[in-house]
Amino acid sequence: MPFEVESTTAEQSHTCYCHLWETKPEFFEQQGIPRGYCGTCGICGEMGHTRAHPDAPVTGAWCDSCYAELSRTTPLWKVVRFTFCVALFVWIAYLLWRTT
Ligand SMILES: [Zn+2]
Ligand SMILES: [Zn+2]
Repeated sequence: MPFEVESTTAEQSHTCYCHLWETKPEFFEQQGIPRGYCGTCGICGEMGHTRAHPDAPVTGAWCDSCYAELSRTTPLWKVVRFTFCVALFVWIAYLLWRTT
């Protein structure tokens, strides 16, 4: 999936916490986050946006470059989850095979 800066920027108001600037600006001001951002990147420490990432296990704050980086890499937890799902499937298939 190619990373498109334009579409992400347009969707940021829906997927990140920037909308809190409208209702609770003190929430960010207390953390020293400048207007236009809603979080500090958990990877590199740059200003970024707090948002869910389809390839990350939890909602975190990512800057745009780390967010794009997460899209390109396959994190270990995803590999573990995939392996677990396959193992579970094999185990269930084995049980079904045993009972018939
Ligand atoms: Zn934001
Ligand atoms: Zn970052």
